[in-house]
Amino acid sequence: MPLRYDLHTHSTMSDGALSPAKLVEYAVKQQIDILALTDHDTTEGVAEASLAARNRQITIVPGVEISVTWSSCTIHILGLNVDHKNRQLQQGLAALRTFRNWRAKEIGRRLEKAGIAGSYSAAREHAGGASSIGRVHFARFLVAQGHAANVPAVFKRFLAKGKPGHVSGKWASLEQALAWIHGAGGQAVIAHPARYRLNATRLRRLIGEFNECGGEGLEVVSSSHSRKECVAMAMHARRSALLASCGSDYHGPGNPWAELGKIPPFPTGCTPIWKSPRWRLYDSAQEGYPLQSGSERWPRG
Ligand code: AMP
Ligand code: MN
Ligand code: MN
Ligand code: MN
Repeated sequence: MPLRYDLHTHSTMSDGALSPAKLVEYAVKQQIDILALTDHDTTEGVAEASLAARNRQITIVPGVEISVTWSSCTIHILGLNVDHKNRQLQQGLAALRTFRNWRAKEIGRRLEKAGIAGSYSAAREHAGGASSIGRVHFARFLVAQGHAANVPAVFKRFLAKGKPGHVSGKWASLEQALAWIHGAGGQAVIAHPARYRLNATRLRRLIGEFNECGGEGLEVVSSSHSRKECVAMAMHARRSALLASCGSDYHGPGNPWAELGKIPPFPTGCTPIWKSPRWRLYDSAQEGYPLQSGSERWPRG
């Protein structure tokens, strides 16, 4: 049986619904062998996920999903197998979370002007202990208040570009995000590349600049992609000599389009990122990387 990989998931440390420990527990149940925790702009859940993976038949990939502003667009870059204790990475992520906090207050002010009071403190409550507050926390409050039927409907009516609660992002540059990831020994992947709705020229330019910064991979298979988009992204990966990654972008139960570990196979011609000589296996028991890639040993959590 080939190993099952899910290299893009969220916990309550950002906008996911399950705690890192519950996420790992559920991943074991879903028979995932290798699970990356990739919360938005924070690695705070890695320690708990790693603890939960001990003595279990699962390997954790310490990861992060970094918010980037590229050519006036918000792009997400996954860092896989980052040393989550790396200082430069942590300083970079802390700056992004400072912006998140400012933006949350600003979203609150704008919604207030649109006649919706108290959303900032409510979003804070929905975020609970999350170190990374985001638009989903606002969306959950607006749904609870009956302003929209569900989270996607809130985005459409209140939080997307041009809507009353929208605040433009001032995130990391592509160069910064890749420098942080590489400085922490990780590999960089463009998350859900088809979701940005970039035209062919702009997508090629993004991939070109990503390549120039030493980026490694493209998330070819994602719950955000139709099969046709997966095939198109596989073509882009091949043409740019990028490795292919796959992830559910799981945010918790109740998102029928993104089930944990429900990952269709790669289109033909993809080289999975875990075949790269730089791919490494995190050992939760030792909280480090003692195993060499290609090791004969079963990667135990
Ligand atoms: P943020 O990083 O705080 O701006 O929030 C981005 C997150 O919002 C994404 O990772 C998704 O979890 C969620 N999101 C973005 N757009 C939508 C949408 N149209 N419907 C539902 N969730 C969305
Ligand atoms: Mn999210
Ligand atoms: Mn994303
Ligand atoms: Mn994500």
